[in-house]
Amino acid sequence: LLHELGRILPAGALLTDPADQIIYGYDNSRHRGTAQAVALPQDAQQVVALVRACRVARTPITARGRGTNTTGASVPASGGIVVSFERMSKLVRIDPDNRLAVVEPGLINGDLQRALAPHGFFWAPDPTSADYSTIAGNLACNAGGPRTIKYGACRENVLGLEAVTGTGALVRCGGMTSKGATGYDLTRLLIGSEGTLALITEATLKLTPRPEATASVRALYVDVAGAARAVARVMAQPVVPCALEFMDSVALKLARDGGIELVPAGALLMIEVDGSASALRGALDAVKRAARGDGLVALDEAESEAARASLWAARKALSPQLRKLAPGKINEDVVVPVSRLPELIAGIERIAAQGGIAIVNFGHAGNGNIHVNLLYHPDNEAESASARQALEQVFALVLALDGMLSGEHGIGMEKREFLPRAIAPEALALMRRIKHVFDPEGILNPGKLLPEPAG
Ligand SMILES: Cc1cc2nc3c(=O)[nH]c(=O)nc-3n(C[C@H](O)[C@H](O)[C@H](O)COP(=O)(O)OP(=O)(O)OC[C@H]3O[C@@H](n4cnc5c(N)ncnc54)[C@H](O)[C@@H]3O)c2cc1C
Repeated sequence: LLHELGRILPAGALLTDPADQIIYGYDNSRHRGTAQAVALPQDAQQVVALVRACRVARTPITARGRGTNTTGASVPASGGIVVSFERMSKLVRIDPDNRLAVVEPGLINGDLQRALAPHGFFWAPDPTSADYSTIAGNLACNAGGPRTIKYGACRENVLGLEAVTGTGALVRCGGMTSKGATGYDLTRLLIGSEGTLALITEATLKLTPRPEATASVRALYVDVAGAARAVARVMAQPVVPCALEFMDSVALKLARDGGIELVPAGALLMIEVDGSASALRGALDAVKRAARGDGLVALDEAESEAARASLWAARKALSPQLRKLAPGKINEDVVVPVSRLPELIAGIERIAAQGGIAIVNFGHAGNGNIHVNLLYHPDNEAESASARQALEQVFALVLALDGMLSGEHGIGMEKREFLPRAIAPEALALMRRIKHVFDPEGILNPGKLLPEPAG
């Protein structure tokens, strides 16, 4: 197989040095794997040829963007070949008239946003990792971010895809239009499929005009319950914020330690609105009215762009900063209907108290999507077991509240054993049959997303 791949790929595009296998063997989860080789294709035809060769050899393929996902989805857990798309990273074209951009899979999200800005557009998915994650990595996880509340995640912002299935077939799905009623929606099926159905080789992305103006308010509450009730009130009125982020008291302390001036409080909401400059005042007043209520400690508008930027910087630094509190972190991104947020937060606090472990919550409250971080010391067996038990309880709580296991990070290796609790057997069986149609030999990202069949 390696000889065949060497023939398919240009010189220097097949890495077999063991040191390279370490670099391409991990992601932002604790998992690691070792591939036989790393392939760096430069075009779709090379991807077709290498998938066909791997199919003949029954060798696993793990697609890789920049390895920032948190679930082990880009770890070559079964060995085989890592296909890294770093040499397919061109912005093919920007088409303002049709509000679209055509991109190669390995383009970095942040580079795309910078290229779009002078044209007056942006691409809505804005994961905090935008400056170091790729478009195809975003698509494969259906990534989102703060803006998802108003503008949607990847599924709402892609017009079409080109991809190579596990049989080595090059398929095009979707198209260039903002409407379409022509056959099954394979585009949205591939988005969120974590590299288990096909390798994306090109994407046609839907662009959104940049708003004329943005304004923010910061609301502090006595406790988390007060903030959670305010989220439900904001979402029940007609102005849709372009961000509605939440931090609990530990997250706030981390922000304060990072130099942000905040009065002591139990929870914070960052609420942003955008639109035309003339309509902004009214929108801001509407969300401020909704944010007022029981437990409000302070409500202020960000007095300057610098103040707004520093609060966002603190919010974005939270995830890595948690490592300062404990070396072990289970980072989940559960999602519930917004009206159930108060119950979710109260339930998580109960679970933390009962298990005697620290749980820090923050995230995209406007979507009911909370990053639940269970902190523990991995070398302490009892604490590790408590964290694991608390995780099971958090998932049970989320499902009881009509929520889902993941809002944006995906399932990967971390959560696949929990999938049967979240998806009914009939639907899971249908997913397995779909996987078999796209990838009959099961070579695309084995051991990810779908659990092994019982028995
Ligand atoms: C600090 C930090 C902050 C983060 N913030 C957010 C956030 O706000 N929102 C959010 O949604 N996520 C967030 N993430 C998670 C992560 O950045 C996203 O999941 C991102 O989309 C992964 O992109 P990547 O290029 O790193 O892909 P990888 O991690 O390399 O791969 C992710 C998945 O995509 C598949 N894949 C990659 N390329 C292809 C391809 N061409 N065809 C098919 N499948 C492919 C892989 O097999 C894997 O299943 C964060 C991560 C970090 C470290």
